[in-house]
Amino acid sequence: MSKKWSVAAAATAAVAALALAGCAQGAPPSAGGAASEPPKDLYTVADSVDLTGSPTYDKMKAADKVVIGVKEDQPNLGFLDAATGERSGFDIEIAKWIAASLGFSEKQIEFKAIPSANRESAIVNGDIDYYVGTYSITDARKQQIDFAGPYFVTGQGLLVAADNDDIKSDKDLAGKTVCSATGSTPIQNIKTNYPDTKTTEFDTYSQCVDALNDGSVDAVTTDEAILIGYAAQAPDDLKVVGEPFSTEKYGVGLPKGDAALRHFINTTFTDGGDVWTGIYDATLGASGTKVDQPEVDDYQ
Ligand code: GLU
Repeated sequence: MSKKWSVAAAATAAVAALALAGCAQGAPPSAGGAASEPPKDLYTVADSVDLTGSPTYDKMKAADKVVIGVKEDQPNLGFLDAATGERSGFDIEIAKWIAASLGFSEKQIEFKAIPSANRESAIVNGDIDYYVGTYSITDARKQQIDFAGPYFVTGQGLLVAADNDDIKSDKDLAGKTVCSATGSTPIQNIKTNYPDTKTTEFDTYSQCVDALNDGSVDAVTTDEAILIGYAAQAPDDLKVVGEPFSTEKYGVGLPKGDAALRHFINTTFTDGGDVWTGIYDATLGASGTKVDQPEVDDYQ
């Protein structure tokens, strides 16, 4: 990603200069390995798709496009490069892979950025066909929507200033102010299980990172996979501390009751181990970390 960034900067100096000035925190990470796009031949767009009984798929076919909800401020996961207009990251690639398995090319995808708190309503209202963006599978959310997956597992962590010696783990949060996104599982965990900790919430995690940088909060808390992306952008200023203190299993958010689509995506994950690994290696794994693809839970 850093390579692409510098290419863009060289090609369009004025735009890049603007972007650099405007988003010192928004620049793609250069530390921790250069994330890239997975190889083009990792998978192909399906030309015959055997999927019946899925109202969501029928809607996509009728519209000749797929509308996917994503994040766009989470480096290495779901990120929009303001200078080039390009989206990148593990979740974006997973979203594109699902679309291809359903017979939709990249050109037929419309991405919509939707913050954590609005995901269920976007799915319930039919604003999007599916959602891929650090979306933890929970029983509470399953009251309103369904999940395919899990396709990734991480856990809640803490991001603090690089010179912070006070907060080394979640045991050090009493009396501190932590920031997280409205409607997220991490903010709920703090409110429920850390009564002596104050909370600040915003729609997005990048707003929390801004608050951490200007000193108005002591830590940002959310999934480690997300925090590592922010720390990699500014390794001199930010660090991830402690061990993960929850388990977050990422699923693809789907309209409730569309079991046909859920089974289809789950089969894509189960049969596509090599594709999953190719996507992981080019994005979250670009720094050299290795993890296994989690087993799908194709609940009935
Ligand atoms: N995975 C957590 C959640 O779904 C935190 C990340 C997010 O807000 O997207 O709530």
